[in-house]
Amino acid sequence: MSAAPTRPATLTSTTNLREILASGTRSFSFEFFPPKTDAGERVLWDAIRRIEAVGPTFVSVTYGAGGSSRDRTVDVTRRIATETTLRPVAHLTAVGHTVAELRQIIGRYADAGIRDVLVLRGDPPGDPRGPWVRHPGGLDHAADLVELVRSVGDFSIGVAAFPERHPRSPSWDEDIRHFVAKCRAGADYAITQMFFDADDYLRLRDRVAAAGCDTPIIPEIMPATDVRQIRRFAELSDATFPADLAHRLDAARDDPAAGHRIGVDHATRLADRLLAAGAPGLHYITLNRSTATLEIHQNLNQNQKLNLDTRSADAVPHRR
Ligand code: FAD
Repeated sequence: MSAAPTRPATLTSTTNLREILASGTRSFSFEFFPPKTDAGERVLWDAIRRIEAVGPTFVSVTYGAGGSSRDRTVDVTRRIATETTLRPVAHLTAVGHTVAELRQIIGRYADAGIRDVLVLRGDPPGDPRGPWVRHPGGLDHAADLVELVRSVGDFSIGVAAFPERHPRSPSWDEDIRHFVAKCRAGADYAITQMFFDADDYLRLRDRVAAAGCDTPIIPEIMPATDVRQIRRFAELSDATFPADLAHRLDAARDDPAAGHRIGVDHATRLADRLLAAGAPGLHYITLNRSTATLEIHQNLNQNQKLNLDTRSADAVPHRR
């Protein structure tokens, strides 16, 4: 008796990110943060609608450090799920939560039809560089939260990766060992911390592959258009900010349009090189504004003849 034919893998509106990436489809995604004010909310939704028009693979919303900002994360993510055609990926951290609370938040996401979670440990509140202290009823590492989310339901799960290694990791060996452990705990893909040199990403990818792990790692692209802002972000995330880029941005300090061009050009070249080297997609930091990231995306489309509208692979709009 011959074996039943294997059904060809097709991508539909219910295909999760795990399956999209496994199909070899490049992922293009955009990250937002929960706004604090009504004016910020309007700016965010303007950006979301513009980005919706280019059909990204997914959009994500960061998870804040404290109570009200966390509720706003859940609200914005749920609105994206129910009021747009976009696929929302919900960020979730272990900071300050008991396991019961974490289960409840995962349940709130699931109730809104959200099936994609970016699982993070988070940083110590108050002093992100301080020592990590687990909530007495909570979890210690992202790997534990990956296991929890897996145990609650059928989610596709992303985790964080660090091209310049996690700032608190004592060695590359430890960093890679713990990264691989969270992939083996059930992560389907990873998204990196911001970085500005493609070689950092490529070295991380080689190290992870050498450890026997083939989890796709999506590079994060942060357009460096404002030197003061980007310096602060780079400091907070311990990313090396290249001296030549800093110098050029400093020279354009009083000319925002020139700074914008420099940042978009640098990010386009970085992203171009990453895609040429086989990166499985790009994750753009928008800071809730669409202009710079959409310009980079259009530049890449011209350079690499990308199919920008990933909905053509994921045929039906992602409304639930
Ligand atoms: P982990 O994987 O737990 O690693 C943290 C440190 O612990 C590493 O040094 C690791 O090597 C070490 N470690 C891991 N397991 C073990 C173990 N078993 N024993 C000993 N050491 C171990 N933060 C937010 O607050 N909200 C967000 O929305 C958010 N979004 C992010 C999105 C991306 C793409 C990235 C890259 C980061 C994001 N962060 C966010 C920041 C992130 O929470 C911090 O960088 C945090 O310090 C690390 O989180 P992690 O999930 O990598 O933790």
